[in-house]
Amino acid sequence: MDFKASDDLQDLQYFGEYGGVNPSISDSSTYTFLSAKTMFDTFEGNTEGCYLYSRHSSPSNLYLGEALAALEGTETANVTASGMGAISAVIMQLCNAGDHIVSSRTIYGGTYALMKNFLKKFNIATSYVDTTHLEDVAMAIGPKTKMIYCESVSNPLLEVADIEALSIIAKKHNIPLVVDNTFSPLSNSPAKLGADIVIHSITKFINGTSDCVAGAVCGTKDFCLGLKDVNNGAGMLLGSTLDSLRASSILKNMRTLHIRMKKHSENALYLALNFEKDGLRVVYPGLKSHTGHEVMKKQFNSEYGFGGLMTLDVGSLENANTLMELMQRKHLGYLAVSLGFYKTLFSAPGTSTSSEIPMEEQVEMGLSNGLIRFSIGLDDHIDRTYIAMKDCLAQLGILK
Ligand code: PLP
Repeated sequence: MDFKASDDLQDLQYFGEYGGVNPSISDSSTYTFLSAKTMFDTFEGNTEGCYLYSRHSSPSNLYLGEALAALEGTETANVTASGMGAISAVIMQLCNAGDHIVSSRTIYGGTYALMKNFLKKFNIATSYVDTTHLEDVAMAIGPKTKMIYCESVSNPLLEVADIEALSIIAKKHNIPLVVDNTFSPLSNSPAKLGADIVIHSITKFINGTSDCVAGAVCGTKDFCLGLKDVNNGAGMLLGSTLDSLRASSILKNMRTLHIRMKKHSENALYLALNFEKDGLRVVYPGLKSHTGHEVMKKQFNSEYGFGGLMTLDVGSLENANTLMELMQRKHLGYLAVSLGFYKTLFSAPGTSTSSEIPMEEQVEMGLSNGLIRFSIGLDDHIDRTYIAMKDCLAQLGILK
């Protein structure tokens, strides 16, 4: 695939007011106008380059938004105070009461709970399907369906969505394909494969320092401006605005995303290949044994690899908990949810990030309680990490 998002990102430069190499931070919630007429026109959305109030937009948030648009190859992007802020705004913008969503059944637990429980208040129903079965997706679409929703690499099972194929179905039914690309920034470029809206939890790889929550909606100018509309925009009216100080720190962290993603992927592939050789039940899109391996190879930007997420099934929740505690004591990482940090993070999703999904549904989708999700860190000597992890596994009798 012809890919230059990292160049676009590096080339995108906004200077500070004194010629600083980073843009100045907009430290204001409100902006003055020299004339009342310009203020009125700005409310009406007719004055480009004027700022009104920072919930609507601010220079720092616009800079970060443009970086996200360069990353995903979309016309523009809006940044939000969290990934869930982005997801909820997109859904509320696209759906009216009584509408319907077709969603992948393996998605982040918070998104699942939003669709399954919270959206009931608005009589918005969701059909969960195995999005790797394209015929099931097509069959679930009805007259009230307003979007197909999936994650490019799913949380926590690491299923790979065939974005091109899903976008063909979406286009045929004249509905948008919404893809959460949190797990694979730079590796996957959903918009280039036909997705209409790309969502991120910036909290994860994009920021990379586990010091804030933030999100983004990448899409057309029409859609993103609509989200900011003072009368009808879900972004503007639900109010999940990112603070300018945070937007500026995230933009600086994004400058190293390409290097970090390569290292996360390289380390995860090394561990996955070796653990598979050792006979462990490891799932990683870079393994030939992964059901989505061929799809990922067809669509990914190979230089960034198959991503930093890997799962290991160690047989029982008790094994998983003991192993994670031991690995933490050995400084191999942290027993923590989230992903994309320099240090390896691990958690058992069945009892943490996917606990919103009822047990019988977890079983049906193959989310066993001995499953550990690893976000592999930036270890400089992953061979040494591998040996230390193997020692832990052997100590618990999981590896002979
Ligand atoms: N999307 C995915 C795939 C996630 O893993 C998460 C959080 O873990 C979210 C969205 C929500 O993001 P945030 O925690 O920034 O609201």
